[in-house]
Amino acid sequence: MSALPYRIGYGEDAHRLEAGRTLVLGGVPVPHAPAGAVAHSDGDAALHALADALLSGLALGDIGQYFPDTAAEWQGLDSAVILARALELVRARGYRPANAALVVTLDRPKLGPLRAAMAQRMAELLQLPETEMGVSFKTSEGLAPDHVQARATVLLVAG
Ligand SMILES: [Zn+2]
Repeated sequence: MSALPYRIGYGEDAHRLEAGRTLVLGGVPVPHAPAGAVAHSDGDAALHALADALLSGLALGDIGQYFPDTAAEWQGLDSAVILARALELVRARGYRPANAALVVTLDRPKLGPLRAAMAQRMAELLQLPETEMGVSFKTSEGLAPDHVQARATVLLVAG
């Protein structure tokens, strides 16, 4: 068992986008999205990146080990369940998130209007005050117009 009082975690995730699917990011459906994520679960890249950040902070592997994309039971899964499971594993080892930062890269639509709703939902899922949940948006500048990508860091504290 590690004696470190703080642990940093990092996670990233990406999904291909396809027309006719719902796009969900940070637990929030994105209105007017021309395409949604192709995924076994609901394809929420933001929550997947956060879940992997939680797990990596304690060297617990990644969400693919806990939620294999071959398992029929996880088809269409709400990614809030994945994040809740990762948080549970972190807490079971005596740590809790202190703050988290997320970057989403998406060309269309602009996500700015959803920042507050996404931050609120992710803070709720991580059991953090909203002031401790950073949310940034980037575009790929046309380099990956058919992808959504998310990167996340989280600081875990003991106790
Ligand atoms: Zn994913």
